[in-house]
Amino acid sequence: MPKRLINKFKEWFSGNGDPQLRVIPRGQHQFPEEDIKGQVLSVLDGLTDAGYEAYLVGGSIRDGLIGLHPKDFDVATSATPEQIKAVFGRNCRLIGRRFRLAHVRFGRDIIEVATFRASHSKADDDDQHHSSQSEEGLLLRDNVFGTLAEDAVRRDFTANALYYRHTDGAVLDFVNGYEDIQQRTLRLIGDPEQRYREDPVRMLRAVRFAAKLDFHLAPDTAAPIGELSELLGLIPPARLFEEVLKLFMSGHAQAVWPLLLDYQLAHWLFPLSVPGRNDATGMQTLIGLALRNTDERLAQGKPVTPAFLYAVLLWGPLQQFWQRAQDDGMSPVPALQKAIQQVIQQQAQHTSIPKRFGIPMREMWELQGRLSQRSPKRCEALLQHPRFRAAYDLLLLREEAGELEPGLGDWWTRYQTADEAQRAELCKGLGAGKKKRRRRPRNRRPKPSPES
Ligand code: ATP
Ligand code: MG
Repeated sequence: MPKRLINKFKEWFSGNGDPQLRVIPRGQHQFPEEDIKGQVLSVLDGLTDAGYEAYLVGGSIRDGLIGLHPKDFDVATSATPEQIKAVFGRNCRLIGRRFRLAHVRFGRDIIEVATFRASHSKADDDDQHHSSQSEEGLLLRDNVFGTLAEDAVRRDFTANALYYRHTDGAVLDFVNGYEDIQQRTLRLIGDPEQRYREDPVRMLRAVRFAAKLDFHLAPDTAAPIGELSELLGLIPPARLFEEVLKLFMSGHAQAVWPLLLDYQLAHWLFPLSVPGRNDATGMQTLIGLALRNTDERLAQGKPVTPAFLYAVLLWGPLQQFWQRAQDDGMSPVPALQKAIQQVIQQQAQHTSIPKRFGIPMREMWELQGRLSQRSPKRCEALLQHPRFRAAYDLLLLREEAGELEPGLGDWWTRYQTADEAQRAELCKGLGAGKKKRRRRPRNRRPKPSPES
């Protein structure tokens, strides 16, 4: 008999078989079915008509049940990736290695369809190439297919493991997630420590959902996080960068940062920026203000950039490194360049900073000094700089945080709306440009190009 079947029998006899299913019929739950997009319904119907089981699962159900309007709809099905492809043909692309799934395309929309997964422990020896775990217990691949019940228990939080069945509008719950949602509780399924070891990113997801949904973490879900936070070191910095974006760019950044600090997760993600490591004047206030701004901008549908976020989070560390280099005898400009390199290099060991964000971040930093050198010619050139606006925003926040005496930000606010004559008036009497300047050393480093 195959090992997998033997394991199943063992489970049944020991009473650890499929978890109890609770079905909440249409009319007894608040999931807003009218919010489901037509394309999503087509995917559900396509799979059901072909004889497979298909459900909506995850964040959309969770969000819908607490009165938010779900946007991203994930589909879970009994069909294998190849079978999904057979149903949707050329509109379907199979992606992923660590976690294989299907993307079904409708015009511009892509619906993610995943086959039911079983937990890693269900994999027998023959399944090693479908599912694998590192020595530390880290889940490297997760491609063992399973039943709906198995799919439910290998998800992260109970609130994320509810299924919506389109054929009768029922919500299916194997893990008491419905109750947890009513109690606004985020609870990891299974043994929390083991689940964090399998995938340490779940610790970040816990914080992200707690902030976004205003849920509290169940005590046993919260307890191991501080101690296990270093496991984030097993995650590639590029994946952590993606998670950081989700943490800070989902409209709840202001709530996220204190949680990251409380749970010692910031100590891994941004070790240079946690209090104790960095107590530069106004540093935490600056971060708080910037995150509040980010949330407000997103709420108004305005764009936000990770470059600004990183520029703020690393501003305090930059000041420290810059000061240190000057204390070592370097003059300010080369000292700043050295500090920038050090900060970026150290941060990149924790979360990567892709060049398309690293370069503008650097420019925002470099412009801070130039904003105080106000000759008419320089001011006009600065206004044209592609990073002027972001640098000006950073300047305003630094003043608001109490790092700088107020004044310069207001001056630039007035300068931007002034006409030519008023601008000349504003520059008059500043003395910039007329100041006697020290001769620069001949072999000074070339200035980095301002354009990205
Ligand atoms: P949102 O899209 O609002 O960020 P979500 O819950 O939909 O939240 P996704 O990352 O889209 O999050 O994942 C979809 C579902 O897949 C989750 O609800 C959860 O059930 C499952 N899932 C995602 N990541 C993990 C993980 N690391 N471990 C276990 N299950 C996961
Ligand atoms: Mg989702």
